[in-house]
Amino acid sequence: MPRYRGRFAPTPSGPLHFGSLVAALASFLDARLAGGEWRLRIEDIDPPRCPPGAADTIQRQLEAFGLHWDGPVLWQHDRDDAYAAALSRLAAQGLAYPCSCSRKQWRDHAVYPGWCRDGLSAPDAPAAWRLRSDRGLRPVTWEDRLFGHQHFDPALLGDVVLQRKDGLWAYQLAVVVDDADQGISDVVRGFDLLDNTPWQRALQHALDLPAPRYLHLPLVMGEGDQKLSKQNHAPPLPAEEQAARPLLHAALVALDQAPPADLAAAPVAEQLAWGIAHWSVARIRPQSTRRVAARPC
Ligand code: GLU
Repeated sequence: MPRYRGRFAPTPSGPLHFGSLVAALASFLDARLAGGEWRLRIEDIDPPRCPPGAADTIQRQLEAFGLHWDGPVLWQHDRDDAYAAALSRLAAQGLAYPCSCSRKQWRDHAVYPGWCRDGLSAPDAPAAWRLRSDRGLRPVTWEDRLFGHQHFDPALLGDVVLQRKDGLWAYQLAVVVDDADQGISDVVRGFDLLDNTPWQRALQHALDLPAPRYLHLPLVMGEGDQKLSKQNHAPPLPAEEQAARPLLHAALVALDQAPPADLAAAPVAEQLAWGIAHWSVARIRPQSTRRVAARPC
């Protein structure tokens, strides 16, 4: 297995936008400069949020930008057995418990107070599964490659949901199991996920899994200083190479890599070759958000 293995893990709730391109590009360049692999994982654990065809569109968009992944695509909808095995393991260690409480019941608390921890969940009511944050979990710390030392108290994080009441798996459990099973050494993604990382570090510890390195990236803000997102109707990326060129250049600019201006018209393969050769995390300004000068698409 190569020493470095990165991944891009989009939720197919719609097509990719410029913000997703910046995350995919940084992860790709980081992997390629390290001579590592770059994997694609489609995070479709929540089918009602994933319209048919969105995952295909995402793959066509990545290809148009020359962001070719290694190996087979991993689909989270195929991974029930792996998530169930991880949950059983946590339950057997007394680290996970069923919880029938509703959000309304604990609305006056900052985090869920753990009322069902000691088997008090209503026996016939639908139950979610939660991770205990009061058992053997040490303060969660890691060195983010851009944002430096991170430190979180498990008691303030509360008991995160691992499986929802409707039976769907929660992102925190799925991402940890998949990163480990795929042998991911390096996670590169947007700053909006930095405050999810403590859960993932806590789960890695509880499941005795290796911890990847983390690099969180400034979030690209759109008009009105809102994060570019599908909910905010960020325009979709094109799925055609010619149209991808100026956007790829804009993504290199958004990552502070200072590409030459005349590279903007070059084929994506040429821009990526430049990007790999010049990739430098040290150049990225460690800000939680990044405004892009011109409307990128
Ligand atoms: N699926 C998540 C998203 O699209 C990303 C998960 C990750 O990179 O850990 O926002």
